[in-house]
Amino acid sequence: MIHYKSKAEIELVRESSLLVSDALALLAASIKSGVTTLQLDKIAEEFIKDNKASASFKGYHGFPFACCISVNDAVVHGFPTNNELISGDVVSVDVGVFKNGFHGDSAYTFGVGEITQEIKQLMRVTKDSLYKGIEKALLGNRVGDIAYAIQDYTEKQHGYGVVRDLVGHGLGRSLHEDPQVPNFGKRGTGAKLREGLVIAIEPMINLGTKDVFHDKDGWTIRTADGKPSAHYEHDICIQKDKADILSSFTAIEAAEKLNTELCSDY
Ligand code: MG
Ligand code: MG
Repeated sequence: MIHYKSKAEIELVRESSLLVSDALALLAASIKSGVTTLQLDKIAEEFIKDNKASASFKGYHGFPFACCISVNDAVVHGFPTNNELISGDVVSVDVGVFKNGFHGDSAYTFGVGEITQEIKQLMRVTKDSLYKGIEKALLGNRVGDIAYAIQDYTEKQHGYGVVRDLVGHGLGRSLHEDPQVPNFGKRGTGAKLREGLVIAIEPMINLGTKDVFHDKDGWTIRTADGKPSAHYEHDICIQKDKADILSSFTAIEAAEKLNTELCSDY
């Protein structure tokens, strides 16, 4: 069942979504060679707690951390670890917060130090595909229009693998609500987009094969061919004209540019 949100509820999702964006911006300033993803997880969790919110992922179906941090061939749901990041790593960070009864959920992929041209392109195309999806998130369109736009751009035009096993979703009082929002599909199919619908759009795009598997830790999803993957996620609300983006990459991108240990020319 889809829960359409009132204006007041949308503002509460926005508050949670922007808190996620601020947490990701803080991590954008903190990522460098030698830092561990467990240290990054602690930084984000402390920030969330300091802002009188809780980390949505911690304890979700038993997930033990505040953030999902997925390095290189890890696609999503990565466990933070004691491994130090090194130049060339591609790091996807997914954060959720719960505040005032509503969740925010957003993700961003960072390149540490010197990144290969092929990974730069993967990051750029994946981020662009998110906005191509959002462009189709229009009143009267269907979920399949968003899905098709992302798949067409990443898979058909760039030959990347679009993960089939994981999808975007509605969100609000629950972290994952109806409808599912896949990154692949047919135009004109799926749930109709109505005013007040809040969804997380999150392309998970692999450099190589679309196929993935579960790591031994029971959570981390990895690419079947060991090639890298990228993931960007915005929370949006369907409105009369164009979609209202509730999360923001502005502060993340500014911090990414300022942090000389991060690749920002992709
Ligand atoms: Mg997420
Ligand atoms: Mg999500």
